[in-house]
Amino acid sequence: MADMDDTVRRHKYELSEDEMPTRWYNIVADLPTPPPPPLHPGTHEPVGPADLAPLFPMALIEQEVTTERYVDIPGGVLDVYRQWRPSPLFRAHRLEQALGTPARIYYKYEGLSPAGSHKPNTAVPQAYYNAAEGVKKLTTETGAGQWGTALAFAAALFGLECEVWQVGASYDAKPYRKLMMEAFGGVVHRSPSELTEAGRLLGADPANWSGSLGIAISEAVEVAAGDPETRYALGSVLNHVLLHQTIIGEEALLQMAKAEDTPTLIVGCTGGGSNFAGLSFPFLREKLAGKISPRILAAEPASCPSLTQGVYAYDFGDTAGMTPLMKMHTLGHDFVPDPIHAGGLRYHGMAPLISHVYEEGYMEAEAVPQTECFAAAIKFARTEGIVPAPEPTHALALAIREAERAKETGEETVILTALCGHGHFDLAAYDAYLTGQMTDEAVSAERFAAALETVPQI
Ligand SMILES: *Cc1c(COP(=O)(O)O)cnc(C)c1O
Repeated sequence: MADMDDTVRRHKYELSEDEMPTRWYNIVADLPTPPPPPLHPGTHEPVGPADLAPLFPMALIEQEVTTERYVDIPGGVLDVYRQWRPSPLFRAHRLEQALGTPARIYYKYEGLSPAGSHKPNTAVPQAYYNAAEGVKKLTTETGAGQWGTALAFAAALFGLECEVWQVGASYDAKPYRKLMMEAFGGVVHRSPSELTEAGRLLGADPANWSGSLGIAISEAVEVAAGDPETRYALGSVLNHVLLHQTIIGEEALLQMAKAEDTPTLIVGCTGGGSNFAGLSFPFLREKLAGKISPRILAAEPASCPSLTQGVYAYDFGDTAGMTPLMKMHTLGHDFVPDPIHAGGLRYHGMAPLISHVYEEGYMEAEAVPQTECFAAAIKFARTEGIVPAPEPTHALALAIREAERAKETGEETVILTALCGHGHFDLAAYDAYLTGQMTDEAVSAERFAAALETVPQI
């Protein structure tokens, strides 16, 4: 027991504001082959900047396609980042002790941001660049509500309006997330809604009533495409989003150096792949340069396993088929995942960059059932004192599996994970777990096969 032991250890590795990295890292510059380009949904030709201009400001379109290794973070973004960045890196001594493992476990904690997750790392620059180009309003989707909260916060700082389509299941289950978005000035709709053609069309099918990220994206994209003063913002998946999140890994590299330790395993949860890419890509750069050799492992939910069960193919990012076609690991764009508690991981596809890195063999993936995740979350909460968001509990579950393995093999194991958000708005999920009502529903092979039928043949 921690309180029976007078040992005082080093728990927290911090950076000063002045030590905070001032550029984002673009992995594309260091990959031996470039990722396949997105294609126009109509012509199947590679999309150009003009195709994307109705949806995104030019600065972000440039970041989407850049092959430069580093992109400078604008001063106006650094200024906001400094409210909560650099974020702390913790050594989980008490969790290690409870597990009785010789493994050393570190976690980079993103829950101290205004939204309580890593999402503001990209919401802030996205709002910044849109405002700089004269955009008046941003539309977006949100699953668990983390992204909508982050964007509403960032939009408020830069004087933009923000309209959010929240996946029906989480709109119903998480009223406090909606209220937080509204507190920041966001306008929130339950998706599928009556406000868009896509929403009316897809909402007519009762199977879509609980909504999905794919449907909510269709709604937000439709509204942005129809208004010259409005642009769309995406919270994950795209190259520029992954780029912005690399601030996490750049800081963690400096902090691991302060801890005088080197990870042998980097594990993170993957919904669209942004927090995982953000943590792991700077370490992958060091690995490609031959300086370190950690395993890099994605943790995905067993009910939405795009990396381990999906195909690597061109597919739409949304359900209505309005977005460009992206080459990615996908379960099929009309796959509607079961309403599991990790709403942020219920996306049919995986970031094209993560999918490419996975195909090239630089990383691995494992799927985890949600009850194992919550068992890990409870162990973590009772030792480290933080109640994690349901999403990063997938990474914690794999970290614990690995720490248990280290006990048997005695192999030197140093685990680094991103605790990418807190679970203060997800306590209903903890209630379900603690009262024994949480279950693991296996997805049938037929359901996977049916959704894969909708992947276009390209
Ligand atoms: C959105 C979200 C995720 C999933 O998105 P990624 O792009 O895969 O990071 C995971 N965890 C939290 C806390 C989130 O808010």
